[in-house]
Amino acid sequence: MPLVELKDMLQQARAHGYAVGAYDAVDSHFVAAILAGAEAARAPVIVSFAESHFSHYDFPALVACAESLARRASVPVALFLDHGASMESAVAAIRHGCNGVMVDASHLDFEANVAATREVVAMAHAVGVPVEGELGYVPGVEGEDAERHPGEMRLTSPEEAAAYVAATSVDFLAVSVGTVHGRLRGEPRLDLERLAAIGAAIEQPLVIHGGTGLSDEQFRALIERGVAKINYYTALADLAAAALAKAKSGYAAALDAARQAIAAEVVRTSQVFGAAGRAEEVLAACRPWRNVEHVILFNWSAEAAGRAAEFEREGEAILAEVPGVREAVVGQAIHADARYQRAWLIRLASPAAEAAYMQDARHLEYANRVFRPHAADRIKGDYARE
Ligand SMILES: [Zn+2]
Repeated sequence: MPLVELKDMLQQARAHGYAVGAYDAVDSHFVAAILAGAEAARAPVIVSFAESHFSHYDFPALVACAESLARRASVPVALFLDHGASMESAVAAIRHGCNGVMVDASHLDFEANVAATREVVAMAHAVGVPVEGELGYVPGVEGEDAERHPGEMRLTSPEEAAAYVAATSVDFLAVSVGTVHGRLRGEPRLDLERLAAIGAAIEQPLVIHGGTGLSDEQFRALIERGVAKINYYTALADLAAAALAKAKSGYAAALDAARQAIAAEVVRTSQVFGAAGRAEEVLAACRPWRNVEHVILFNWSAEAAGRAAEFEREGEAILAEVPGVREAVVGQAIHADARYQRAWLIRLASPAAEAAYMQDARHLEYANRVFRPHAADRIKGDYARE
């Protein structure tokens, strides 16, 4: 159960004056270490997957791993797409198991950013998934040297922040107030007055990207002004790499050392962010994240029997594309005397995704043209695990 609704998690954090760490994972050891650190600190945690890292790992496989580990965790967890580049990225991330997504159109001008973000928000909200937008520009790429990355820092203005949130309905807003992605040269200069004005102008939890390199005092100053999610990756990657480089006694021991280094930094930052010790109150305050299984037991009509395989392959291809659908497959009864010989299993992201699926034009077109006319003998139901 410890996958929880991210919107509940971050609203709770902002209301109580702390921030949740959002740590990018790049392999299964990272995921396990982040969760181990959160458990040691009894902290809510966000495991994120940055699209800029997708060339380094198999995203669907790593989210599946994170989902499996998160379900066994004893602290509240959310799985998040960091810096999603497109609508397709957001749909795919939800399909693979993320329950929060970021759409990063911050490199576009205000109007284009609003338009791109609105589109993703409409899709994601329809399937029950909250969205982080970004306004202003935080230069750099996760885990690399900030000075190598193009683009001038563009700070977020309070007026634009209010207009952007109203126009897009984003649930969380990443702001640019002086941090950069990756490693920082010199002391970061934060514009705290600007952040305070943004925090006063909008009630949504604020997000800081580029957490590496800030002092504990700077983190606390950000959180006091409305920041409830802090993206933190570069320091974890550097600590893990240093632990691997130092290890002398074989592969498994080197990985243990890297995991310990990551977990220790997750503990330390959870304490600085004020999230440590909050796991129980967050679990009590947040709705659990529930996947839904939409099940149809059926028999093809005698006339359709010859085309059943064709109908089913077509249905699987169409339905798998519907936002909020995680998987759409047909199965055969294993007992010859079963009342229904075939079954659709449509795995959906959430109860909202089930409602959206029932209205989806692609689904209805297939159902009305192919399935319903040829499979009148059927029963259906929707189930979530407790
Ligand atoms: Zn970022």
